[in-house]
Amino acid sequence: LTQLFRPLDMLGMVYRNIRQGLIDMAAMFKLLDTPQEVADAPAAPALVIRRPSVTFDNVVFGYDPDRTILHGLSLDIPAGHKVAIVGPSGAGKSTIARLLFRFYDPQAGRILIDGQDIREVTQTSLRSAIGIVPQDSVLFNDTIGYNIAYGRDGTSDEQVESAARGAALMGLIERLPQRFATEVGERGLKLSGGEKQRVAIARTLVKNPPILLLDEATSALDTRTEQDILATLHALAEHRTTISIAHRLSTIADADTIFVLELGRLAEQGTHAELLRRDGLYAEMWARQANEQAELGVAAE
Ligand code: ATP
Repeated sequence: LTQLFRPLDMLGMVYRNIRQGLIDMAAMFKLLDTPQEVADAPAAPALVIRRPSVTFDNVVFGYDPDRTILHGLSLDIPAGHKVAIVGPSGAGKSTIARLLFRFYDPQAGRILIDGQDIREVTQTSLRSAIGIVPQDSVLFNDTIGYNIAYGRDGTSDEQVESAARGAALMGLIERLPQRFATEVGERGLKLSGGEKQRVAIARTLVKNPPILLLDEATSALDTRTEQDILATLHALAEHRTTISIAHRLSTIADADTIFVLELGRLAEQGTHAELLRRDGLYAEMWARQANEQAELGVAAE
């Protein structure tokens, strides 16, 4: 991480909230070794969001020129919709998230947010518009209050507390000897995976981004914690455009649209019910997961 962020620090042009976004993104998509390949266009304006729609328009992308990963992908996500991107391992789900965050530029096609090509706006404004809740959030060796407010300077105590409440963290905080002033992280109180994720949710509530990118792989958590976290994530998603990268289908069945990717192409799209009726790739993935869960003795949803 240090290697990735040191040059940015030296340039002194990256605000803390952007760095937090990058850190969460790095944690989410293991981007530690990704070089910064994109630059702002000269005199690029800030992204201005009135209605946070997201459009992938015929996007062609490969990490290496000789291997195309996304083959002319088009996704249309209206403002305020909750969508999920599913598909077999290697289909390109995380790649879509990396492109939306502009870690890379497409070789052809465009990505638009509220009608603006993300290549033509500042990365600072782009990244502060997108909130991320990684599964394994990075905590700083500081107080829990600092960890929640991180990402936005000048956050008041009331805002921190309200975010903690929204993220169902108050139960934990009330039990801590110094409440919000309790040190957490490597040298302080160790938080569980679920608690760390709630801190990330609280941080995102403070940031209040119009677009949310969720990694819904909650496999590390027990079922009860998972249900709690999902309920909190749903509260977070309200009034925002939400894109979930889903590994477990049971968590996204209520999405407005499910995009089913296969080898970098959109194989199917629709609601859960529509896709089941279609009896294609999604229905097959759903049946397989239901079987796996039954074998594990977990009630399939
Ligand atoms: P999973 O469900 O396993 O996380 P995914 O659908 O998110 O998979 P991606 O991570 O988007 O898949 O990967 C799509 C393809 O791109 C894969 O074939 C992968 O090997 C390749 N790929 C991913 N990252 C890189 C990289 N940094 N350099 C080169 N190829 C990459």
